[in-house]
Amino acid sequence: MNNWQRVDDEAAMLAVGATLAQRFPSGGLITLHGDLGAGKTTLVRGLLRALGYRGNVKSPTYTLVEPYYLEGRDVFHFDLYRLAEPEELEYMGIRDYLRPDALCLVEWPEKAEGYLPPPDLRIHIRYCGTAREIFME
Ligand code: ADP
Ligand code: MG
Repeated sequence: MNNWQRVDDEAAMLAVGATLAQRFPSGGLITLHGDLGAGKTTLVRGLLRALGYRGNVKSPTYTLVEPYYLEGRDVFHFDLYRLAEPEELEYMGIRDYLRPDALCLVEWPEKAEGYLPPPDLRIHIRYCGTAREIFME
C-alpha cells in the first residue's frame, strides 16, 4: 500500500513544499505527478517561499521552464504540459538545467518520457474531495 497523506488546504500544500527546501540542500530532480489543478505549482511555490523568494509563481506552461536564481541556489521549475514531443527538450538544452547543483522541479514529467534521468523524488498528488492527498517516493 502506498502511504498517501492528507493535505487539507493550500496552506498545508505550501508547508509540504517548504519541507523540500531542507530535504534538498543542494541540487536534485523532483517530478510532480497529478491532474490539472492538483496542486503541483502550489507545492513549488511553498518551496520557493521557503528559499526566500517573494515574487509571483505560476506554471511556465508556455515557456516550459521558469528559472529562479536565489541566494545560494538555482531552482528550475518546468511545466511540460504543452511539450509536443520529448525531442523539444533537447532543443531547449535540458541537460544544462539538470546540473547536480541545481534543483529542478518538473510538472508533467510523463511528457518527457526517456529524456529525464530517474528523479531523486517523485511526488504524487490526487484529489480527495475538496482537499488533496500526497504520496512521495
Ligand atoms: P497544478 O499546478 O497541479 O495544476 P495548482 O498548484 O495551480 O495546480 O493548484 C490549483 C488549485 O488547487 C489552487 O487554487 C490551489 O489553491 C488549490 N490547492 C492546492 N493545494 C490544495 C489542497 N491541499 N487542498 C485544496 N486546494 C488546494
Ligand atoms: Mg501547475
